[in-house]
Amino acid sequence: MDITLLRSFSTTRRIKTGTWSQYQPVFELSKSPCMDACPCSTDIPKIFDLLLKGKDREAAQELSMSNPLAPITGRICPAFCEASCNRREFDQPVGIREIERFLGDLFLEEKLFPEKRGYLKGRVAVVGSGPAGLTASWFMALHGFEVHVYEELDHPGGVLYWGVPDFRLDKRVLKRCIERWEEFGVVFHTGRKVTPDELQEISDCDFVIIASGLTKPKRLSIPGIEHTISGVDFLKDYNLGRFSKFPDRAVVIGGGNVAVDAARVLAKSGAKVVLCCVEDRENMPAIPEEVQEALEDGVVLKPSTGVVAIEPSSSGLTLKLSKVRVVDERDRVKEVEFVGEPWETEASLVVAALGQEKEFEWEGLVCGDLKEGPSTVAQAVASAKDLVCELLHINLQGDLDRKDKVVSFNDLNLFYFEKRSRFSVRDVASACEEASRCFSCGYCNLCANCWIFCPDVSVVINWDEAPPSVDVDHCKGCGICAVECPRAVISMRRKY
Ligand code: SF4
Ligand code: SF4
Ligand code: SF4
Repeated sequence: MDITLLRSFSTTRRIKTGTWSQYQPVFELSKSPCMDACPCSTDIPKIFDLLLKGKDREAAQELSMSNPLAPITGRICPAFCEASCNRREFDQPVGIREIERFLGDLFLEEKLFPEKRGYLKGRVAVVGSGPAGLTASWFMALHGFEVHVYEELDHPGGVLYWGVPDFRLDKRVLKRCIERWEEFGVVFHTGRKVTPDELQEISDCDFVIIASGLTKPKRLSIPGIEHTISGVDFLKDYNLGRFSKFPDRAVVIGGGNVAVDAARVLAKSGAKVVLCCVEDRENMPAIPEEVQEALEDGVVLKPSTGVVAIEPSSSGLTLKLSKVRVVDERDRVKEVEFVGEPWETEASLVVAALGQEKEFEWEGLVCGDLKEGPSTVAQAVASAKDLVCELLHINLQGDLDRKDKVVSFNDLNLFYFEKRSRFSVRDVASACEEASRCFSCGYCNLCANCWIFCPDVSVVINWDEAPPSVDVDHCKGCGICAVECPRAVISMRRKY
């Protein structure tokens, strides 16, 4: 028999074999755990995909739209994203923060600005120029408002200027950020403290946004507390160049970021520093990475330790310390009971970093620490974005086309990935090397595996737009594409 007689010479596209199937693949982008964990909802796999396609400027622009303070978070964020990265279970988390720093610096240095959405829609006053105030002013300016920011100190930046020591954040980065804001049209009024009573003076505006932060130190009823300096005042004096006489021995009281920063400043100046806090090491509110760095700086940590009393002495101050047990917590203040025998220690300076509270009661549009309580820069950015979204009825919180499902490590097809250690990010090449370690969880990067493996040629790829789609007339529902997709973009659903 002539074998060619068994062949059809017409297209099989006419024969709709898909009607036999009961299952059909569905292509849907899901949330990556890093995006889910980032307070700013930064679409990390999308940004990495742009970077890896040679579109580094577009990647930087995309990042600035979700987090305009990326040059700063890229340096001082605790990297919630990396703590949740699926790659953590494979070898090491992707160096997201370092890539963020690189792209943030790129949009600063290359002066990449987004196009404004609308022209002169109105006037906005923002009280406070810390992370929340900067973010709110950025997005209001982006949406066409004339923005005036009021700052109490002679320099904008709020806590980024007076609270973060230079070994954590180079002041030149903040300076370049402020210049970027000014170039974008934001007007800063420095040396202008605004109180609730003075709001009238600046209220010829369509909106007044309050982002003045928590600046008033909390004082606890420890006998002799009047001999101490508050953590906020100490950091302010240090960062504003007003602190010159460093002690040889210091005690810092508190377990939060202000306490750890103060302890590190003192340790780096050569002082012998004891940091005592009522929490145990695991439950300290400070960023764990910072606590570790404080230890490396030589700070002696005394966890679960409280101060019974402080008294002046010939060498400066004598502190009576004791082990404590936390028995309750109210308004972020821990109630403790002393356990065991107290002991004494000497110091020429005691910094009491016992938390901060608001200086005034504000009504109206509040965001940042004032609304959320003490938080990180990324959380302040997110709070200000939420407020702007609410005011302008817009979405700034990442793609709306994502399923709510967060892709887990077990959802991935690991066959396609090799173990590789982290790259240190210095330039675009090393940023790409590091970004290429990303699994792109839940985000289709058009790797085309589904298209290659489909036995029925039923995956339809448009190379300009992800994800692919399915030709339902011919797909027999075998599920091979869903298995072969490395990043859990495809799921099989029953058709009937
Ligand atoms: S802001 Fe923080 S959590 Fe978000 S991507 Fe950057 S480093 Fe990660
Ligand atoms: S592998 Fe990539 S997409 Fe997945 S969690 Fe890590 S950084 Fe995010
Ligand atoms: S296999 Fe590749 S192209 Fe296909 S959906 Fe998954 S990521 Fe996208």
